[in-house]
Amino acid sequence: MEAASIEMRFEEGTKKPCRTCKWQIADPTNPEQGQCTVGRTEMGAVWKRWIRDVFNMTCGKHEEGKLSFREHV
Ligand code: SF4
Repeated sequence: MEAASIEMRFEEGTKKPCRTCKWQIADPTNPEQGQCTVGRTEMGAVWKRWIRDVFNMTCGKHEEGKLSFREHV
């Protein structure tokens, strides 16, 4: 089985939008945009990715829910 890809893709009307994903941090000034924090280096550092459309972007790592405060950066 192929590992779930974190490669973000545009998928109009996706049922798994970044919007509902626990790895997404909403942009307080623009609700359509946000940042994805699913990326981790081997050393544990987080690399954030810009999400230009949180309603229609998705990836194989989508997980519904909220990140606990401890996991946030
Ligand atoms: S769906 Fe994928 S790209 Fe979007 S926030 Fe979640 S992990 Fe990041």
